[in-house]
Amino acid sequence: MPLKATAHIEAMSAFALANFGGFDRPTLAQNESAFPPSPKAIEAGRDAVARSHLYPDPDWTLLRDAIAKTYGVERDLVLCGAGSMELIACTIAAFAGPGTQVLGTDYAYNFAASAAARAGATYVKAAERGYEVSIDAILAAVTPATRIVFVCNPGNPTGTCIKNAELLRLRAALPGDVLLVIDQAYGEFDDQDPQAVFALAGRGDTVVLRTLSKAYGLAGARIGWGLFAPQITAEVRKMQNSNQVSTVSLAMAVAAVEDQAYMRATVTRTADIRDRFARGLRAAGYEVPDSRTNFVLIRFANAEKAAAADSALRGADIIARGLSGYGLTDCLRITVGPQDVMDRTLRALTAMRGRQCW
Ligand SMILES: *Cc1c(COP(=O)(O)O)cnc(C)c1O
Repeated sequence: MPLKATAHIEAMSAFALANFGGFDRPTLAQNESAFPPSPKAIEAGRDAVARSHLYPDPDWTLLRDAIAKTYGVERDLVLCGAGSMELIACTIAAFAGPGTQVLGTDYAYNFAASAAARAGATYVKAAERGYEVSIDAILAAVTPATRIVFVCNPGNPTGTCIKNAELLRLRAALPGDVLLVIDQAYGEFDDQDPQAVFALAGRGDTVVLRTLSKAYGLAGARIGWGLFAPQITAEVRKMQNSNQVSTVSLAMAVAAVEDQAYMRATVTRTADIRDRFARGLRAAGYEVPDSRTNFVLIRFANAEKAAAADSALRGADIIARGLSGYGLTDCLRITVGPQDVMDRTLRALTAMRGRQCW
């Protein structure tokens, strides 16, 4: 008998990362920060290397303290993960399974679909309107089988943002036995006051997720966190591997969170480059939704033009992110990189439009 994986794992496809085609330098395809982490985080990581013979703190004590103090949240609600992807996967596995549904939206981060498949749950999507999450469409799509609603705000790959009041309206209208997961991976780029959404976590039916991978420039260190009520934490921790955030990553994360001035400066610089890039693209005639993240979505006239632009950019060593996995075959997602790279990218895209009357 040939070896066989569990039926639902065999049936699912692996989570699709960006296709780099062997490219070995930073790309504009993964929403990594254009800037390195805080020098204080780098120094703390160096010091921590020497303590690597010891297991890391399984309760992330210093990091939870730093997050609680910086974000004005209750320390006991903070749960940490090896990237927020781990928290997404463990939360979905703990609260959804065979015969149940996880409800996302058209363009909500695809990893939630992958995590639902792993858990044997069905992933369904509520329609978005004009690249924006529609709370009414989500509410209309809830069924008795819905166990989790997954919303990404600001959105990836759209970059758009809905008002926090809309998220509060969603929570108020959802049944109490539906867990609402709000993924705020780009929350530091959103200028809305986060406290009202953070406060939802205290209800015991809502999880709010953040990461250090984007605004803090620590994608390689793999650290995410979220706000979880105790009864949710108890279940999610059963799914997590203990000691999953390394000693070096924890040390870097604490120093990075404590260096708010560096993070804020990085976000401002990134947003300035982004807005200039988006203005240039619009001036060239491209459709670019308003972004509250470190990337922009560009819509082309059709899928062929998006694919042609993707390969032309690759020819200039610029790797964008194709979005066929989201059904957005006429779009590309471009991460905000350093100013010179974005100038080059804008010149290439502007020239394409001029040449081919896109
Ligand atoms: C990048 C990203 C994450 C994942 O972040 P990690 O913390 O690196 O695992 C989660 N959600 C969204 C929407 C993202 O774009």
